[in-house]
Amino acid sequence: MLNRSGQIAGRSDEATSAGGGAHPTFTGNRALQQEEALLFEIGRRDTTGVDIAEPEAFTPRLNGLERKGGVDIPGLSEPETMRHFVKLSQKNYGIDTGLFPLGSCTMKHNPRLNEKMARLPGFGDVHPLQPVSTVQGALRLMEELSRWLLATTGMEAVALSPKAGAHGELAGMMAIKAAIDAKGEGATRRVVLVPDSAHGTNPATAALIGFQVKAVPAREDGWVHVEDVKGLLGPDIAGIMLTNPNTCGLFEPQIVEIAAAIHEAGGYFYCDGANFNAIVGKARPGDLGVDAMHINLHKTFSTPHGGGGPGSGPVVLSSRLAPFAPVPYLRASGDGLQLVEAAADAEGHEQPFGRITAFHGQMGMYVRALSYMLSHGGDGLKQASEDAVLNANYVRACLSDLMSLPFGDKPCMHEALFDDAWLKGTGVTTLDFAKAMIDEGYHPMTVYFPLVVHGAMLIEPTESESKASLDLFIAALRDLAMAARNGQAERFTGAPYHAPRRRLDETRAARSPVLTYRTPEPVREAAE
Ligand SMILES: *Cc1c(COP(=O)(O)O)cnc(C)c1O
Repeated sequence: MLNRSGQIAGRSDEATSAGGGAHPTFTGNRALQQEEALLFEIGRRDTTGVDIAEPEAFTPRLNGLERKGGVDIPGLSEPETMRHFVKLSQKNYGIDTGLFPLGSCTMKHNPRLNEKMARLPGFGDVHPLQPVSTVQGALRLMEELSRWLLATTGMEAVALSPKAGAHGELAGMMAIKAAIDAKGEGATRRVVLVPDSAHGTNPATAALIGFQVKAVPAREDGWVHVEDVKGLLGPDIAGIMLTNPNTCGLFEPQIVEIAAAIHEAGGYFYCDGANFNAIVGKARPGDLGVDAMHINLHKTFSTPHGGGGPGSGPVVLSSRLAPFAPVPYLRASGDGLQLVEAAADAEGHEQPFGRITAFHGQMGMYVRALSYMLSHGGDGLKQASEDAVLNANYVRACLSDLMSLPFGDKPCMHEALFDDAWLKGTGVTTLDFAKAMIDEGYHPMTVYFPLVVHGAMLIEPTESESKASLDLFIAALRDLAMAARNGQAERFTGAPYHAPRRRLDETRAARSPVLTYRTPEPVREAAE
């Protein structure tokens, strides 16, 4: 404990000297912001919080393969265990803690009603291998969710099973591939167009299943232009992957013309539906000429995500792609709903391209999403989209005199995109600015995405925020922006000063996480 607290006091020292005032503490705790070591550092190998009787003598049946030593897991008492995990939970900044303006992620409030519904035993305890006759209620719920997804998107069919947006992209693009193969054009239609501004998952998905990715270059105005797309069309075109509203926060005004051009060239239109929250109840992708689109239930339909829960990415399909939907899918039969589980059980026009999940997808997310839909109603979903767009434009308008907008003359959809032109000469970067937001108690916005905008800052407040909460956020950002402009670079370049940890090497943390605990070498104390 001694050398650990020495280490922590050092950290705290560094933080407080720059952040202002207080003396380092003995424990390293800063008031109620408490340090918490790893279980391996605080636990004891010879301790357990439970009292289990010694087993009676028995002869192992593992043929000599049984473990010889202990499992080397540290033990804690029950109160120590409780404190450990409660403290860890308190380090998690989430939408329940404060405004979470992470652009493109739609970090909206997760209504507690959804949680209550998902915990009903008939949903919460359902097992994927139960006989179909015992899960008719769950299947009815999946059917009802499908109906809402098809009604809001104007599409023909839906595959519920993909487990995230990127997984939905994969399912949609595999349906496109299957449709092309069914026409005998698999050898020639190899190229997928993807705009420069796209989310990285788009080109990655196309490349993963063997398509060749060709970029549609970015334009000054942030839009994809139909003549740029037409210039790239030919007999080798499999399709285009387009995000609408796009990652610059703008609705693509030429989307109908682009869809028509792609169809005329014999290709398919995949729409990345991550930004669906801006247009629910206002525009139906099916009416715009979309052939496949994933819907991130965890974004648009309020199921928790970002460390708070699993994603779910159903993909809706046009009539051209509907026959290729993957198994499993629902089919109404005389005695209720059935799940078509194998390609061999396909009927009529159905030609499922295969299966992409072991079972049926994220049941808990289906329940939450449908709970959200039913509690809002059609009018409420439309209102949510309108409020999301209004909130983003309010933020944009209130900051536009201090921070620069790359596409400044246009109103935005549900997220406002700033660039770093306004920081030129201040010694402050987009990253510094984002880190200083942490000191103010806000999760940073999305930074450096989309790549087509220099030093991008993408702010998505969602409809969850009240005007009061937006006004405080805007005031905090204005204070920061004025500090940056007034030469207070040190408020940014060392930020965050008040967080439990300062700047981490995030790339290394993500790419080479240390997953195995090694007992550190004992530290030798100096003798004086
Ligand atoms: C979030 C997002 C995705 C990927 O969705 P996941 O659910 O994270 O896999 C794809 N495209 C865009 C534009 C997104 O914002």
